[in-house]
Amino acid sequence: MMSVRILPPAPVQKALDMLCAAGFEAYVVGGCVRDALRGAEPHDWDCTTNAKPDAICACFHEFHVIETGLQHGTVTVVIDRMPIEITTYRIDGVYADHRRPESVTFTDSLTDDLARRDFTVNAMAYHPEHGLIDPFHGTDDLRQKCIRCVGDPAARFNEDGLRILRALRFASVLDFTVHPDTENAVHTMKSLLQHISAERIDTELTKLLCGQAAERILVQFADVVFTVLHELKPMQGFDQRNPHHDYDVWTHTLKTVAAIPPEPVLRWAALLHDSGKPHCFTMDERGGHFYGHAEISAEIAVRALTAMKSDRRRLDRVVELVKAHDFVWNGTEKQIKRVVRRYGAEAAEQLLLLHMADVSAQAAAYRAERVAQAQQILETLHRLCAEEACMSLRQLAVNGRDLIAAGVPEGKAVGETLNRLLDAVMDGTLSNERSALLQSLPESPS
Ligand code: ATP
Ligand code: MG
Repeated sequence: MMSVRILPPAPVQKALDMLCAAGFEAYVVGGCVRDALRGAEPHDWDCTTNAKPDAICACFHEFHVIETGLQHGTVTVVIDRMPIEITTYRIDGVYADHRRPESVTFTDSLTDDLARRDFTVNAMAYHPEHGLIDPFHGTDDLRQKCIRCVGDPAARFNEDGLRILRALRFASVLDFTVHPDTENAVHTMKSLLQHISAERIDTELTKLLCGQAAERILVQFADVVFTVLHELKPMQGFDQRNPHHDYDVWTHTLKTVAAIPPEPVLRWAALLHDSGKPHCFTMDERGGHFYGHAEISAEIAVRALTAMKSDRRRLDRVVELVKAHDFVWNGTEKQIKRVVRRYGAEAAEQLLLLHMADVSAQAAAYRAERVAQAQQILETLHRLCAEEACMSLRQLAVNGRDLIAAGVPEGKAVGETLNRLLDAVMDGTLSNERSALLQSLPESPS
C-alpha cells in the first residue's frame, strides 16, 4: 500500500461506504486520483466497483439514480446534490471501428479495469482504507510528468484513435512530456483520427489549445494537428520575408496562441488568424505582403470550425475576430467606443487581446512598444466600460418609444434617429440626458 492520502468529498466517501457496506469493493478512479495526487482539486469524482449495474441501482435506491450508460456499466448517483459516476469494473471487447468497443464485459478484477484505461496516470484507483492501487506505475509517471500509454501504445491507439489526441491534450493541460514510445505511436498512427467523430476531436483539441503547454505540444505534434486541420499546414515554414516578422507563419501563430488567455474562443481565433496568409503572398521591394489575408483566414476558419462541428456561437465569434484581427488601433477613445458599438464590449476586448497577442509574436524590434500600446488601449476600454460610457443604443437615455412620442414617424426613421443621437453622444457633442436628446430632435411637422 502506498502511503498517500486522498480525501474525497463527503458524498463520494458516502458512496464508497454504502457500496462497501453492501459487500462490494469500491474505489475512486481515473482523473480524480491523478489530480488529487498532483495537488490539484479534482473537478469530478468517478468511482469504480465490482457491483454490477443493477446492484449499484439497488444499493442507491433511496437516491436519485441516472442510468447514464447502463450497457457500459455506468450509473450516476446524486448524493447531497453531487452527481457521482459509478462504473462496474469492466474489460472492453473488440474495437472494430477504432472508436469504441463493440461490447464490454464486466469483471471482478480491478486490475483488469485499470488495464483498459488510456494512460498510466489515469489508471490509478484509491480507497481511503486500502490505499492507492497503481499496477501500471502511474505515480512514477506523475512524478516524472509523463504521459504514457497503459500497455503497447500502438495497440491502444488502434483500439481507440481518440487516445492519440487525448495524449496530447493531457500533455498540454498538465504540462507533461509524452513518453518516447507513446510519442512514436502518436506520429505513426495519427491517421486513425479519421475514424473519430468531429465533436470528440473538437473537445480534445479545444482542451489542448487551452492547455498551459499548448505551444510546445503544437510544435512537437504539428503533423497530428494537420491531420485533423489540414488547412493549417501551409503555414508551417512559410517565410514572411517582412521586417515586421521574425518567425514563419506557423511559429508566429503558435506564439500568438501561447500569448492569449486560455479561453476557447481566443485560442481558436489565435490559431486561425493568419491561416490565410500563405494564400495571398506578394513581394515588392519592401518585402512580403499578405493583402486581404484576414478575409481569407476568416473563410478558412468557417471551413475548419464547421468541419469540426464547433458550436455556432463559438464559430461566429472566432470568425468575427479573425476577420477583424488586423484592425489598426489608434488608441483614441472615439475609436475604442466605435469598436465597442460595432462589436459589443466583450468582442471588442477579445479583439484587443488578439491584437496584443499578435503583436507580441512579431519582430523583436517592435514587440515591446506595440504590446505596451495595446495594453494602454485595453485599459482605456476597461475604464470606459467601468464608467458606463454610452457606447450602445441600449445605454442611450431615450428609446424608440420616446422618439415616437416626440413625433418621429414610426418606421426606419426611429432607428436612424437613435443611431444619429448615439453618434453625437459618443462624439461628445450631445450629453446622454433625456431632455438634451429630445430637445435636439428637429421640430415635428405638426
Ligand atoms: P478530465 O475529466 O480532467 O478531462 P479524466 O482523466 O477524468 O480527465 P475523462 O475523459 O473524464 O478524463 O475520463 C475518465 C477516465 O476514464 C480517464 O481518467 C481514463 O481512466 C478513462 N478513459 C476515458 N477515456 C478513455 C479512452 N478513450 N480510453 C481509455 N480510457 C479512457
Ligand atoms: Mg473526468
